[in-house]
Parts: sequence; structure tokens; C-alpha cells
Amino acid sequence: MSADPVLLTPGPLTISMRTKESMLRDWGSWDSDFNQITARIRERLVDIVHGRATHECVPMQGSGTFSVEAALGTLVPRQHGHVLVPQNGAYCQRITRILKILGRAVTTIDYAEDAAVSPLDIERALAKDASITHVALVHCETSTGILNPLPEIAAVVARHGRRLIIDAMSSFGALEIDARTMPFDAVIAASGKCLEGPPGMGFVVVRKSALEAAEGNCHSLALDLHDQWVYMQKTTQWRYTPPTHVVAALDSAIDQYLADGGREARGATYTRNCRELIAGMSALGLRSFLPAEIQAPIIVTFHAPTETKGGYDFKRFYNAVKARGYILYPGKLTTVETFRVGCMGQMGPRGIGGAVAAVADVLAAGL
Ligand SMILES: *Cc1c(COP(=O)(O)O)cnc(C)c1O
Repeated sequence: MSADPVLLTPGPLTISMRTKESMLRDWGSWDSDFNQITARIRERLVDIVHGRATHECVPMQGSGTFSVEAALGTLVPRQHGHVLVPQNGAYCQRITRILKILGRAVTTIDYAEDAAVSPLDIERALAKDASITHVALVHCETSTGILNPLPEIAAVVARHGRRLIIDAMSSFGALEIDARTMPFDAVIAASGKCLEGPPGMGFVVVRKSALEAAEGNCHSLALDLHDQWVYMQKTTQWRYTPPTHVVAALDSAIDQYLADGGREARGATYTRNCRELIAGMSALGLRSFLPAEIQAPIIVTFHAPTETKGGYDFKRFYNAVKARGYILYPGKLTTVETFRVGCMGQMGPRGIGGAVAAVADVLAAGL
């Protein structure tokens, strides 16, 4: 049997054997040993963003989007909430779509898919419209790999006395987010991204005062973060069935993350992967889509190869690279043909070099 292919995707991603093995035990959701794991995860997630003095971690069942919807629905008041969403990719657009479905007032600032959000534009929008209560920012826009300038935007939002909700799904744990210096009400992420756990749960690190004020806001029973929090504080348990194996695996993944050196070490590894990837692909004639200044070290969008026999077809390219042991990710741009390669996860013994060699082999075969 050949080894499983390495996932070069932004989640699910290839996780360590130790993390996989931590899922071999069955846990009872009432069991105090299991509930200690939940408590430990919550504390350590708050610590990653230095929020112990101010914030609480509320985990939520489901993929990352469930936590985004939970955070928006719980924290943005139904009556007077009005959210500013700067949009430069698909995940920003998803936030807008959620807000519209929830019936919350929303204003967007629209950017091209290769431009970062500008703090000055946020400044102007907030100065102009006093009814805006929240800004919802995607930190790393995973659909292209753009890094939006979080520290500057957090400062602008705080200066105007508004509240910041950050979708940091693909940056939490790898890129710096610091509650002490970048004021935010909520930062949202999930188990299966930079923390390198399996997918299946998300979490929101929320300012305690914002959580306390959010009672009754939520449109949904299952996605009510305030209710989940109150219940968890009272009982140490999750409301409704927890994804027990995923929780245990995330705990193990966090053990390994901390032993490896935590946020700085993870960020350095991804940065090294990203540089090596762009250099290696560039040597093969494959250009990255974004200017280097706004490229996050998380996922890279490449222009599709042009030299392929009979024209480029992502499916064929994908299958050829997969046969050589690596799983690529499709592009998400509407205007140009692209594909994406993630810089995260356990890359296997050959690292990024192995992935670049696989792509080189496919191109040499003229596929
Ligand atoms: C992965 C991701 C999400 C959540 O996606 P799910 O498929 O629901 O897990 C949200 N925002 C960003 C920026 C992401 O990278």
C-alpha cells in the first residue's frame, strides 16, 4: 500500500501520527477526564492570543463557518447592530452573506482580489457613519493568501470606539494576534488549521464583557455562544454532543505545538515553507499571484501553467500531482486560472521540496 498523499491544503491538512493516535480512545461527554481536556484547551487557546485577563474561549461544534456564524449572530445585536465588512476575497464575502441571512445591517468596502484592506479606508468609513457598531475582518484571506493588516485596523477600530470581530481561521496560532495590543471583541478559528488538529470544531476567543452583554442576541439555539459559554461555565460540559475525538486530538496537537515552540516556531516554519515554495515554483516558471508584501505565509496562489499539452486542466494537473504523493488545492479566483498550495501541516519527510519536485515531474511529462 502506498503512503497517503500529503495534503497541501489550508485544512483539513496532514496531521502528525501522534495527533491521529490520540483519537483512538473513546470518551464519555460527562466524564470529568474529558471535561478537563475541554477546560485545558480553552485556557491554552486564550493564552495563544494573550487574552487571559480579558477574554474567554467558547468552543463550538462544526466547521469554522459555524463558529463565524455563531460569533456574528451572538455578538452583533439584532436591533442596532451594523457591521462594516472590508471585502477582498471569498471568506469576507461569506461574512457578508451570513450577516444578510441573519438580517443584520451590513456595509461593505470592496477591493480587488489582489489588494489588501486599507486601514485608511476603514478610518474613513467609520468617521462617515456613526451607526456602524462592528468591523468584521478576515485576517488571512485564504481564498488568495492575502494578509490583511490587523494591528493597524485594530487600532483604527478602537480609536473610533467600535468593536472588532476577526476571522483568523487560517492565521490563529501561526501569525501574531495579541489581545493586549490589538484590541478585539472576538477572534474566530478552528481545530483543523494552523494548530494542526483534525477538522470538526471551531472556537471563538471573546471579550468577557462582550459575551456578558450578548445574552438573547442570537437567532439560533445551537449557535448561541452566550448559551454555550454559560452552560460550560456551570457544568464544565459542552451543550449537546461534543466532537470528543476531535477535542482530544486538538489537545494533543496543542501539546505538540507548545513543545515545538508555540506561535513563533509555527509561524517561522510556515514562513520557511512559503519562501521555499515560491522560490521552487518560480524556478519551474510558475508565478505566484500576489505581490510579496501582502502574501501571508499560509497559502500561495499560483498562475496555472501555460506549457501543458492540450491546454491546462486543473483536474488533470491535480491527478498527476496526486499520483506523485501530493494534494493541491483549486484556485478560487473568478478572473484568472490559478491553483493554490498550502504552507501548513506535516509536509512529510521531504518537506516542500518533495512537493516542488512532484510538480516539476508533472510539468516535465507535459501534463
Ligand atoms: C477555513 C476558513 C473558514 C472556515 O471554513 P470551513 O470550511 O467552514 O471550516 C473561514 N474563514 C477562513 C479565512 C478560512 O480560511
